[in-house]
Amino acid sequence: MGEHYKFAALSSAVDRPSLFGERSALLAKLAQLGLPIPETYLLSINAVALGEVVDALPVSGLFALRSSPEKRQWHGASALLNLGVCDAELDTLSAEYSRTGALELYRRSVQNFAVRVHDLDPEVFETLNYELRVNVPSPSEAQLEDLLRASLDLFEDEAGAAFPQSPTEQLRQAIEAFRSEWNSPRAQIMRQATGASARAGLGLMVQKMVNLNAGGTGFFQSVDDTSGKARSTGTYTPFTPHPQHSVEPARFITRNERIERHDDNASLEELAPDGFAALLDATQIAENNLGDRFNVAFGITNGQARVFDMVPTQRGANAAVQIVVDLAQQHLISRDDALMRIEPLRLAECLHPQLDPHARRDLLAGGLPASPGAATGKIVFTSLAAMSAVAQGENVILVRPETSPEDIRGIYAAEGVLTLRGGMTSHAAVIARGLGVPCIVGVADLKLDGEVLVTPNGRRFNAGDVITLDGSTGQVLAGAPRMLRAETSQAFNTLLGWADAVRTLGVRANADTPHEARLARNFKVDGIGLCRTEHMFFENGRINLMREMILAENGEKRVEALNRLLPMQRGDFEELFEIMEGLPVTIRLLDPPLHEFLPHSEAEFEPLAKAMDLPLDEIKSRAKGLHEFNPMLGMRGVRLGITMPEIYAMQGRAIFEAAIAAGRKTGAEIIPEIMIPLVSANRESELVKARLDEVADAVRAETGVDFKYKTGVMVETPRGALRAGDLARSSSFLSFGTNDLTQMTYGLSRDDAGRFMREYVNLEVFTEDPFRSLDIEGVGELVSIGARRGRENNASLEIGLCGEHGGDPSTINFCAREGFDYVSCSAYRVPIARLAAAQSALTALIKK
Ligand code: PEP
Ligand code: MG
Repeated sequence: MGEHYKFAALSSAVDRPSLFGERSALLAKLAQLGLPIPETYLLSINAVALGEVVDALPVSGLFALRSSPEKRQWHGASALLNLGVCDAELDTLSAEYSRTGALELYRRSVQNFAVRVHDLDPEVFETLNYELRVNVPSPSEAQLEDLLRASLDLFEDEAGAAFPQSPTEQLRQAIEAFRSEWNSPRAQIMRQATGASARAGLGLMVQKMVNLNAGGTGFFQSVDDTSGKARSTGTYTPFTPHPQHSVEPARFITRNERIERHDDNASLEELAPDGFAALLDATQIAENNLGDRFNVAFGITNGQARVFDMVPTQRGANAAVQIVVDLAQQHLISRDDALMRIEPLRLAECLHPQLDPHARRDLLAGGLPASPGAATGKIVFTSLAAMSAVAQGENVILVRPETSPEDIRGIYAAEGVLTLRGGMTSHAAVIARGLGVPCIVGVADLKLDGEVLVTPNGRRFNAGDVITLDGSTGQVLAGAPRMLRAETSQAFNTLLGWADAVRTLGVRANADTPHEARLARNFKVDGIGLCRTEHMFFENGRINLMREMILAENGEKRVEALNRLLPMQRGDFEELFEIMEGLPVTIRLLDPPLHEFLPHSEAEFEPLAKAMDLPLDEIKSRAKGLHEFNPMLGMRGVRLGITMPEIYAMQGRAIFEAAIAAGRKTGAEIIPEIMIPLVSANRESELVKARLDEVADAVRAETGVDFKYKTGVMVETPRGALRAGDLARSSSFLSFGTNDLTQMTYGLSRDDAGRFMREYVNLEVFTEDPFRSLDIEGVGELVSIGARRGRENNASLEIGLCGEHGGDPSTINFCAREGFDYVSCSAYRVPIARLAAAQSALTALIKK
């Protein structure tokens, strides 16, 4: 253990948050700026961790104990006020607050101490108080004295020891209570969900309490919580030692916003004009000097303002963006600072789609709206199932009776979470909100019958059935009603505009449909980095045509099926090219994992047999012939393209014809980028390219139109990465498909990884799920080798990454460091990637 300070002066914490915690460091800074902060002493994080015994009190009179965790977002116990009240203080307190006031203050302090420090039931103390007041609304001094003594006796009975009459002992016990709350499993889980390590530490502050007689306390901030826009707001409670006279916190307002004033509450400005003006000054000094917006805990005493504490305002992602953009526009921070202050993954919160208010809602049940945004997905009943389904590219809704800490990774993987039990602060609610995952809890009307979700009127939903959660209203709906995309603010666009100005890494989207392409363009994408053409066949009516093509008995029959697919593909590509208006569009030739496309059930075989005019048994036996033991490692990608060359020829034709048509329509020059998947030997790509060149020549001859196109290779196998030098010679680009590269480097199937990933991560065998965040030291090394070898042989080679990792900030940082041209990620992650790429560029500049 390093330095441990017991009762250090406040100034010791300036710029030393790691020793004293962020809150103390901030308060120290404010004191340095001359703000009116009461006398405050600090216990360092190490002193608290070591459980150092307190043997002397640094302050006289009443004092408060406040938490100062290493990182503010880890909270710690809330402030404990009015410590130091005891028999010996009663006379001094009586002089300040009158005898009855002092007795009341003392009694309430005992109760508070009992509840907060000794974990006793508040009810038993309240009952005592209530019994007296029901009969005597304005008790006499003697009656209050009796009530106090009864409360002290009750404390002794319940706690098994007398209420400590020494302020030092009170502080010692309070510190111990704060320490054990910090170390409780619940607090640890909550912290770790926000990225805290197991060793995260807590510092403490002991602050002298000021005499608030003829004053009061409150909270003030200069911005709106939700939007982050400028709006002074707060609460103020005039002080009274008598609880029966206490006033509801009064909302107060500033000069400019009188309209919002509650008629029955005087504004603070009128109650204490000087104190209010001093409070505004203090806030402004803090904001101007520290470049942030704060929530100020203040007191007014004899008309003067005191600042007890300041914390950066709580803010959702929208507010966070608004605040940094405003601060930068007011020149209180730089644009670079603004960019660095937003955690890229938080932008996802600004991007939650909402249900279209006009969409038909097939309501199944209602629950508590625990985390906003709407989500659609297939039902899964376990976190394990959630993780494996997500690893296969599915969107899922995790349905559980309630969640436990073991479910965190499942919640993280799911689009939405539904729990039948629980309240707004239940585990699922808190964790999902923290992660920005739409969540509904406490849906008591739904029942689980084994692995079937049953509605009140008997409708039954199995795993795999699609439901939708409206996390903003708490409605659980059947199917997938239309969604509206999330509205992003002007500030959001401004910030990302600044990001674009500094980033050097391109950001493209993985988009297979016109809808995704439009979405991506809305997010100002630089192009499409991966269009998975097999996904274009998942739609109605097409899957069987695709099956006919795969199961065709010979090349001739296959060409027949392909000829029917050609216009569909051409149409799809044309639309994509039109939407992208000349921006790069990388189309990946077909890479269908066969098991996803082969029919499985009788209901799927029958229509296919009819369409192909073949006996059912014949179709079944052909499908059996194509069965693979490990489809992920079998007849996929270029292997299919080589053995059934007609498929890529058809796709090439569709791409070229579409490019010509879209070029005519948009007036833009469209240069399609054709990407060959799963290549491990150069000869594979040579064969495909030769074929594509033939098709291009044929299309040129038929149409009389000349056009350009690029071909490139997807580096997805370890051999592909090692031989990237060869592959690069005749490629315009290489794109690392890190999903497959990860599975092949680890020898770990994407479909099966979910089974043990949680345990592996928990046991720290893997620090992170390598399918979520690129394994820089293993898979990353192959990527580096491939990129270097590729460039050595082709100086103009473009290099990208298009696995799921393309939307992960740490992977993006890796790609930026490696000098990649672009990353490609799902449309919703495009803003995240733009910001992460900007942060990488800024970090690189700082290092130089
Ligand atoms: C990859 O393997 O990284 C990739 C993008 O391709 P797919 O996920 O379609 O296999
Ligand atoms: Mg792949």
